Amino acid sequence: MSIAQEKLAEIRTQVQSHLDRRQTGALSAARRAALESTIRGHLSAHNAVIVAHYYTAPEIQALAEATGGCVSDSLEMARFGRDHPAETLIVAGVRFMGETAKILTPSKRVLMPTLEATCSLDEGCPIDAFSRFCDAHPEREVVVYANTSAAVKARADWVVTSSIALDVAEHLAAQDKPIIWAPDKHLGDYVQRESGADVLLWDGACIVHEEFKARGILDLKQVHPDAAVLVHPESPANVIALADHVGSTTQIIRAAQSLPHSTFIVATDQGIFYKLQQAAPDKQFIIAPTAGKGATCRSCANCPWMAMNDLESMASVFDRDDNEIHVPTDIATAAMRPLERMLAFAETLKP
Ligand code: SF4
Repeated sequence: MSIAQEKLAEIRTQVQSHLDRRQTGALSAARRAALESTIRGHLSAHNAVIVAHYYTAPEIQALAEATGGCVSDSLEMARFGRDHPAETLIVAGVRFMGETAKILTPSKRVLMPTLEATCSLDEGCPIDAFSRFCDAHPEREVVVYANTSAAVKARADWVVTSSIALDVAEHLAAQDKPIIWAPDKHLGDYVQRESGADVLLWDGACIVHEEFKARGILDLKQVHPDAAVLVHPESPANVIALADHVGSTTQIIRAAQSLPHSTFIVATDQGIFYKLQQAAPDKQFIIAPTAGKGATCRSCANCPWMAMNDLESMASVFDRDDNEIHVPTDIATAAMRPLERMLAFAETLKP
């Protein structure tokens, strides 16, 4: 078992405790209104804005939109946080998103509802082991996913999000540059197949997307034969093989709008349903099954770390001293280079 696999096995055993600690009870309307009022007051008093990911709870996304913040994928979160004039960013997502915001805008204060919200990809790629892996293959360009620590980004030549991962792989393949791809083996395998790039994979995975089962999707297609299948590329290859469209969260939302189908089976975190229903209100969305042979359903299409972002922790975000993002200057300086490269490359892809 590789170091990364050992770490992932450890993470899997921890996920259930995260799920158990999640607040599952619905807030009363009065409590929700009071919390939202508190948060709005903080935003105004501290010149702050909410930067939320598509996988957070619907009430977080709705509040971000209603208060002039953004709800988006990690690439757009990075851009929005960098360009927005607010002095404080409240990043509702997982820790690497807060770190990216801090690196890109060191002058801004970056707070998160909780710094415990992490990611199995980030956790499964510790910097020491990853550095040794890179040192053993000095001839390869190091491409890391945004879902990594600031230290891992600082070791990289490129940072990518899922929305530009394939474009970067194709760009490097066109120059015959061999690649180290970390940490997501499924995304790396996908871009390798699609781009023909020479890719050496790190052995990491997203515990949410890895749970989707091809057999379950095929069974669901029997019930909904006209449904299109939308798949995030962090999913296993046999799930990707069933897709009518493979793409990042933003690309999945666009596909739901543009494809002629009225029903979609969606293989990504179900937090995206808030935006899908907003973007295509007349269409039906069904979550891809995580049950079936070989399934553990530890995540059930719902990231336990994203779920830690709730209104209670948002409302106390300015009252605590355990939730501000700090990145050491030397690491931030080194990580800035591949992050700016990512943003500049993404600009070249705009129509
Ligand atoms: S959904 Fe997967 S990739 Fe996204 S934060 Fe959760 S564990 Fe990480």
